[in-house]
Amino acid sequence: MNKAFVREPDSTATYCPRCGSQGERVGTEVLQHYVADAQRQLLTEPAFFCPSPKCAVAYFDAFERFVLVKDLVRPAYPKDPSAAICACFGVTRRDIQRDVDEGVVTRTRAAVEQAQSSAACCAHLAANGRSCVPYLQKCFLDCRQHRDQQTR
Ligand SMILES: [Zn+2]
Ligand SMILES: [Zn+2]
Repeated sequence: MNKAFVREPDSTATYCPRCGSQGERVGTEVLQHYVADAQRQLLTEPAFFCPSPKCAVAYFDAFERFVLVKDLVRPAYPKDPSAAICACFGVTRRDIQRDVDEGVVTRTRAAVEQAQSSAACCAHLAANGRSCVPYLQKCFLDCRQHRDQQTR
């Protein structure tokens, strides 16, 4: 996961002005979904999503202007761990936790299949404008690891 040494020559990577995480570029549709008009006008596109769960900055631009998580019009995963992981199908961490509790993968697998299907709209509805499949998988592994630590 360490991308510190991977630099494309024409890199447009922009880093969060608050925490220094590498931002994930988002399009207008994502901004319209999560940011109120008045706030959105403060940002110059392209805008970026700060993926750090604990950082208070949600979106920022290349001029270090930003919109805070608390000012978003709806909860955004992973800033809010109880928000839908996959905004297109409304799958939450609680659904995945239930899979882990029951020792099954039913909900997680269904969510991944939906997210990979043509009906997925992660590009518009996920806070980072990307497929939620990596988040679904990571969430499942996190929940399972948490369970293993408790039963040990
Ligand atoms: Zn940040
Ligand atoms: Zn999705």
